[in-house]
Amino acid sequence: MLAMFLPLFKEVVLAKNLHRKMLEVARNSYPLEGCGILFGHIDNNKAIIRDVIETENSADNPTVRFYIDPELFYTILISAEESGLEFLGIFHSHPTQPNPSNWDLEYMKLHQNVWIIIQSLNREEKKLKMKAFQWYNKKLFDVKLKIT
Ligand SMILES: [Zn+2]
Repeated sequence: MLAMFLPLFKEVVLAKNLHRKMLEVARNSYPLEGCGILFGHIDNNKAIIRDVIETENSADNPTVRFYIDPELFYTILISAEESGLEFLGIFHSHPTQPNPSNWDLEYMKLHQNVWIIIQSLNREEKKLKMKAFQWYNKKLFDVKLKIT
C-alpha cells in the first residue's frame, strides 16, 4: 500500500544506472516536462531507490506541468509491490531550474515523499542538475542526493 507516514529522509541513494536513466528521461522530454515514479525501500531513514519507471506526462500543458494518470500510476504501483518494492516518490524534469514550482509545492504537501527534480535545459551537458526535496512538517527540505 501507499506509505502514508514516511520519515523525513536523511538521504536519497541512487545507483549510477538509475541516475543516468532519469537524466535521459529529462533530455528526451525536453522542452516538455518528463516524469516517472521512484521505487525502492527505506533503510535507516534513507530512501534507497531500486527502480525508476518513466510515465507519460498527461498534463494539459506539459511544458510547465506534469500529471501521471491515476490508473497508470496504480498499475505500475501494483506491479512494483509484487516485486517487493515500495513507492518512494516521484521524479520530473523542468526545462528551467530544478526547483519546485508553486504547483509542485501544492502536490508536495499532499504527497510528502521524495520529489526529485531534474533540469533539462542544458540537455547537451553530461551532468544536468538534479535535486531531491521533501515537504515535511509544514516545511520544504532539501534532501541529500547520493549517487553510488
Ligand atoms: Zn515541477
